[in-house]
Amino acid sequence: MKCCSQFPLSGRISSPFTRQIVLGYYDGATEGIVKCSVCMKSWYYRMIAWDSRQDNRLFVLRLLPERSFESLEQFLQNVQPNRGQLGFPWSFESESEKIATDDFVARMIKAASTPAWIVVGKSIISPLRICAVTQEILDAILTAESGSTYENIEKWYEFFRD
Ligand SMILES: [Zn+2]
Repeated sequence: MKCCSQFPLSGRISSPFTRQIVLGYYDGATEGIVKCSVCMKSWYYRMIAWDSRQDNRLFVLRLLPERSFESLEQFLQNVQPNRGQLGFPWSFESESEKIATDDFVARMIKAASTPAWIVVGKSIISPLRICAVTQEILDAILTAESGSTYENIEKWYEFFRD
């Protein structure tokens, strides 16, 4: 398993992300925070495209500050001490708990880098096709993120060279 610092510019890899906190879900995770199991770096991922069967998903990866995964994990354990699994589906005991969590997550995502990678997989922890974000891809990501629906994944395959 390759560390996230050794991703090929374009290629197929086994995911180094073995742990995640899911933030959004639609027939599978659409958004979350993951941790590289080799270097422990934290990443934020968000789906922007999928196929018509919602099977293959395209995610954008943004690097988070050091120990973001651990700090979110700690925050959630403090807020929801009786929860076995952290993240989606959320269950809050009060509105203030929900607001505090949304605020913590929003601030964390705001600290994320610009998009570094696009990846295709059934999930972020599945085998992945990966491609480094170029200016052309960045423009396409910004267009996709400004839309109100997920894009069709077909047009994204042209960016991958393998
Ligand atoms: Zn890594």
